[in-house]
Amino acid sequence: MVRRAGGPPPGILYGVIELHHLTKRYGSTLAVHDLSFTVQPGHVTGFLGPNGAGKSTTLRLILGLDAPTSGQALVSGRRYASLRRPMREVGALLDAGAVHGGRSAYDHLLCLARTNDIGSRRVAEVLDQVGLGGVARKRVSGFSLGMKQRLGIAAALLGDPGVLMFDEPVNGLDPDGVRWIRELMRSLAAQGRTILLSSHLMSEMALTADRIVIVGRGRLVAEATVTELTARHHSLEDAYLALTAGSVQYGGAR
Ligand code: ADP
Repeated sequence: MVRRAGGPPPGILYGVIELHHLTKRYGSTLAVHDLSFTVQPGHVTGFLGPNGAGKSTTLRLILGLDAPTSGQALVSGRRYASLRRPMREVGALLDAGAVHGGRSAYDHLLCLARTNDIGSRRVAEVLDQVGLGGVARKRVSGFSLGMKQRLGIAAALLGDPGVLMFDEPVNGLDPDGVRWIRELMRSLAAQGRTILLSSHLMSEMALTADRIVIVGRGRLVAEATVTELTARHHSLEDAYLALTAGSVQYGGAR
């Protein structure tokens, strides 16, 4: 388990993400509905559900980017907003496209590092870790989607956090990149970090994750290990399709 000075006192489950009856309503749309589950350190937990099931909203609520209508999301026993050094505790890749295109990859990360009291040496380290060392001084506007995904992952890793959340990180990556992500996720979990990973690529998820949380229409549909799901169904994809049948929707639950 990754434990750091300045973290929560003993007794708090360091690195655990806990959702307690989390609910988010946008007007008449219930994006997240009474959602409770925990995500444990040392594992890659896959977060699955049809489009509109509430996955991104849940990640935003955990990161304090949106306020819950009711219930709460905690990281290491605290709300994100009350973490003292959030980037050193939680890293996230939500929307890789949302980067200022005029800056270089290095300057983008340096700016994030400075505002979070992280040294510039760490910027070079994470750029090398994600394979962007050679294009560090190039403007992000010229980057492919795959390179932007790598840059977003570098930003998530910048504070060396114990908890990492990635929303569709393999979008835009070629097969080499997909394999690289898989190995990165597994190695981060093996270091004792908590990895929450959303993806709609079932075969890839079966290779990367060891635990799975499935949501449909904002509600919890299943929380199990990949081994349990594949033992009961032929494959993770079959399990997913059987469990989410009826949850596929357009426009969210009402
Ligand atoms: P997923 O990530 O699983 O595809 P989302 O969390 O993006 O699902 O969306 C869940 C539901 O909430 C959808 O019906 C979506 O249209 C709605 N929703 C998400 N964000 C907003 C918002 N800011 N305003 C209004 N509706 C939203």
